Amino acid sequence: MQEYFRNIWQGLSTVLTGMKITFKHLFVPAVTIQYPDVKVPLPERVRNRLYVNMDDCIGCDQCARVCPVNCITIETVKSVPGEDLGKTSNGKKKALWVTQFEIDIAKCCYCQLCVFPCPTECIYMTDVYEFSELERENLNFNFVTLSKEEILQKKENYAKLEAEKAAQKAAAAKPAVANPEQKPTDN
Ligand code: SF4
Ligand code: SF4
Repeated sequence: MQEYFRNIWQGLSTVLTGMKITFKHLFVPAVTIQYPDVKVPLPERVRNRLYVNMDDCIGCDQCARVCPVNCITIETVKSVPGEDLGKTSNGKKKALWVTQFEIDIAKCCYCQLCVFPCPTECIYMTDVYEFSELERENLNFNFVTLSKEEILQKKENYAKLEAEKAAQKAAAAKPAVANPEQKPTDN
């Protein structure tokens, strides 16, 4: 009988000990938040997803060259005479069409090294940190603003210009055909 009441007391005291902690926390401010409805403010220099403002990109490739994991792929095509690509917002003249600009963010280590050498400050870290994907290839972000047709056109224009230049060079290098009726000059 004594054993019976002891067990009841032990059960009750165990519950009360646990509830003491619960009651204590009812009266202290909560430290948890209702994520994702509520989000913690980010630190000022946080590194998250990269973004490239293509309006200001001059295709200089400096960001890609400095990337330690080679996750930036850039391809450019020279503009041809008569094409005006305009200027960037900090006044740099644009001369290259950027026909490929991809960042494989799955490889990115968020070192931010690509941001500093950019002469037009058009590649930067954003405050976007929720961009998980089910397929890995969806993390290869494409920033090019030209359409496929436009890219093809730019490449064709440049190839045509190069072919014309090569033809002119070849014509200039060709030796003049000797005139059989021309009399040899006296030396
Ligand atoms: S943050 Fe670092 S790893 Fe990511 S793209 Fe820029 S240079 Fe490459
Ligand atoms: S460094 Fe800047 S301007 Fe140059 S290719 Fe990269 S993003 Fe474009």
